[in-house]
Amino acid sequence: MILVIKNDKKNQMDKLIKWIAGQGLDIHMSEGANTTVVGLIGDTSKIDIDLISSLEIVESVKRISEPYKKANRKFHPNDTVVSVAADRDSPQTGNAAAKKPVQIGGKAFTFIAGPCSVESRDQIVGIALAVKKSGASILRGGAFKPRTSPYAFQGLGEEGVKLLIEAKKESGLPIVTEIMNAGQLPLFQDVDIIQIGARNMQNFDLLKEVGRSKKPILLKRGLANTVEEWLMSAEYIMSKGNENVVLCERGIRTFEPLTRNTLDLSAIPLIKELTHLPVIADPSHASGLSRLVLPLSMAAAAAGSDGLMIEVHNDPTNALCDGAQSIRPEQFDEVARKVGAVLAAIGRERG
Ligand code: PEP
Ligand code: MN
Repeated sequence: MILVIKNDKKNQMDKLIKWIAGQGLDIHMSEGANTTVVGLIGDTSKIDIDLISSLEIVESVKRISEPYKKANRKFHPNDTVVSVAADRDSPQTGNAAAKKPVQIGGKAFTFIAGPCSVESRDQIVGIALAVKKSGASILRGGAFKPRTSPYAFQGLGEEGVKLLIEAKKESGLPIVTEIMNAGQLPLFQDVDIIQIGARNMQNFDLLKEVGRSKKPILLKRGLANTVEEWLMSAEYIMSKGNENVVLCERGIRTFEPLTRNTLDLSAIPLIKELTHLPVIADPSHASGLSRLVLPLSMAAAAAGSDGLMIEVHNDPTNALCDGAQSIRPEQFDEVARKVGAVLAAIGRERG
């Protein structure tokens, strides 16, 4: 249920909040430029809508039928902008020059790029510097890899996280990497965005655990999950207090075997309607084919995505993971340029 508050009666807010708490409900406040919206969370079935409507402070009341509340745009009409690495000027990162946090959502369009897996210091630092030059503002790299085969390269693990942090120091780029279980959280202290991969989108214990952290979470869509299930997973994270969630459309399983997955482009404008959370696209995992990364990137930007996450490798042929879908740094440069032209055409800034 949401209540729109009368601007000139805001002084009665404390009384209202107390009354709502007395009904055993939680509150989600959203203060916009012109309206204040109070969302009621919990079992609102016994609330008398006529009684609430009659309160002097209340302009209007609406029941929300969707099961996601905090993630719902009706609860929070303005776009959420997630700030990444606001601590980049701390001595920890050793980079006093990079002061401004990177933003995802709102007006900005953000490029995240890097290899599927961290393989060596030279590899990750080299790629970080190259993609930064082309306009990436966040570095990706997997350390703990969810592989279909137990015999495939599983990632460098803790060593991979350390190398990513070195690449962050060298390049000044904040970093995003995937977590596989809550026990790994202590290793993520200097990681700027925690990725929840497609296979863990409904690992509810993990979602609750990262919901207790303050770090931005990149929540990938599950291989065979509906948009509503995806938003319910975001709700799990938000329900524990962490509202810094970025969604990532990375393709879903369909009957089409010629691509690894099918990029669900329609999910992007749909998500913008249903939620205030930012959404980015991952054309690499969506297609599995490096030659499709450029057209899908342009299409996702045109469809309104808030950014892209792209796999970039210095030597895709010899990559330890996902070489076939990885583009080289010079190809990433072309993608960034051409997506830039799309952004200019739709009146969107590059973040
Ligand atoms: C990845 O980003 O490298 C990854 C494993 O992605 P997904 O969870 O989308 O398969
Ligand atoms: Mn990958």
